[in-house]
Amino acid sequence: MVTWRKEMHQVVTRAVACPFCGENASVALPDEETDVRVRKSVAAFGECTTVTCSQGDTYWVYFC
Ligand SMILES: [Zn+2]
Repeated sequence: MVTWRKEMHQVVTRAVACPFCGENASVALPDEETDVRVRKSVAAFGECTTVTCSQGDTYWVYFC
């Protein structure tokens, strides 16, 4: 078993709401200082992750 230092870092998650149907989801943040912005479409900046809710909506969560 390989132990990465990263595993010692507590994973921080933030609740976000789907911009289409309002369903809540949680996303893992790179660090706890990070704030998130939810967007309905992809933008050409920033670090982001995509979320697909149970309704099949896909949206982008940006870290800022
Ligand atoms: Zn949705």
